[in-house]
Amino acid sequence: MTNALFDLDDPTSNNLTEPKLSAQRRMTLRKQAALERGQHPLSVLFGHLPLHKDAAPANDRTAAGLRCGSCAHRGPGFYGYPKCLIANGARISNSANSECRAWWPACHDYTPRRDA
Ligand code: SF4
Repeated sequence: MTNALFDLDDPTSNNLTEPKLSAQRRMTLRKQAALERGQHPLSVLFGHLPLHKDAAPANDRTAAGLRCGSCAHRGPGFYGYPKCLIANGARISNSANSECRAWWPACHDYTPRRDA
């Protein structure tokens, strides 16, 4: 019998000594990597989505600049969690992965809220 039947890790690999990251943690790292490439975090789920030219810096959550939190397109999704509601839900998935964080630097579709 082989280990392949049960999809076990190779016991000689280093993977056994490294803790496996949760799916949520892996998603967070992918979103951080997107920001470092000048892409909005939702680009991980929905493809090419450049940051706005006046977007706040990704490495400082209190710095000045445009953020999703002051965008007119950010609002509650079906279950009340904040989502990007642009284009009739084109940036909404049925998971927490598409929740839109207020501190995220704005994407190129940013539109200021009237009260922001
Ligand atoms: S449209 Fe607005 S809420 Fe949606 S991702 Fe861009 S900046 Fe954020």
